[in-house]
Amino acid sequence: MALSPPTRVVHSVVVPVYDEADGIDEFHARCSAAMTALGEPYEIVYVDDGSRDGSWRRLEALRERDLAVRLVRLSRNFGHQIAISAGIAHTVGETVCVIDADLQDPPEVIGELVARWHEGADIVYAVRRERHEQSRFKTASASAFYRLMRWLSEVDIPVDAGDFRLLSRRAADALVAMPEHDRYVRGMVAWLGFTTAEVSYVRDARHAGQTKYPLTKMVRLALDGIMAFSVRPLRLATVMGFVVSASAFAAAIVLTILRLAGHISVVQGWTSLAVLVLLLAGVQLITVGVLGEYVGRIYNEVRRRPLYLVRDTDERGRDVGS
Ligand code: UDP
Ligand code: MG
Repeated sequence: MALSPPTRVVHSVVVPVYDEADGIDEFHARCSAAMTALGEPYEIVYVDDGSRDGSWRRLEALRERDLAVRLVRLSRNFGHQIAISAGIAHTVGETVCVIDADLQDPPEVIGELVARWHEGADIVYAVRRERHEQSRFKTASASAFYRLMRWLSEVDIPVDAGDFRLLSRRAADALVAMPEHDRYVRGMVAWLGFTTAEVSYVRDARHAGQTKYPLTKMVRLALDGIMAFSVRPLRLATVMGFVVSASAFAAAIVLTILRLAGHISVVQGWTSLAVLVLLLAGVQLITVGVLGEYVGRIYNEVRRRPLYLVRDTDERGRDVGS
């Protein structure tokens, strides 16, 4: 039997949960302690993103014990970025903090984020100063990706800031009002503008369980980030087309002159021809592929499906995302 949540909420914490049964109790203990220390009413909104390992039962047990816990259960696994969006849509606090459930982002840092909010910031990024993680590949690939994104993207997305951050109520509402399906929340937050601030922290190793971001999901997130925030790949395709056409034109002139001057015979030059044809075919296929990525995303948007479906929630939650 669910108890009624606290009436006035100042701080909301959003926690996406996907198969985190082993770590969730420890997370909750640390997060509650950190929030209680702030001395203002808070809620912790857990979003179960279609977990298959009993996370939901653990979360229900937490809700029985703790009035500050609110739950949203999505109808299936929609992915980290959508789980975050669903969680934000269900918060009521004046601040909204997004944090992972695996204790890689220390909940104690929330106090520092809130301090910046008190100083007037609408968006406070938690920037990773150091990473104490096992996989060197992950650290290196993430770092390369953030830098590539900065070069490609039209909005200024902070380097080395993940999804751990605080939003003011108006920033959170603006984010919820953005309807796009390919959600790259970091980019969307950067697009919002408003006053921003930064807090640096040390990213720990995962407390329990495995990463839910295998290479395929990381590549997918990277593509979403690039495609949703930049048309530069399209421009690169155009530039590539110009470069190849110009070289082909120059080659045509040179070869014609050489031919007329009698320096090359008819049969010679087959190899260079073959190479040119292959090169052109490759460039064209890449370009079509880039176009296809954008067209696919447009298709995704125009179907206008809801972002996610909720299977279970407490009485104050909204039921369907828009
Ligand atoms: N997560 C989620 N849905 C997914 C994948 C991950 O809600 O499809 C959650 C996960 O439970 C965790 C957070 O998102 O709280 C970050 O995931 P993870 O720690 O696996 O990513 P990493 O830190 O390895 O990048
Ligand atoms: Mg993690």
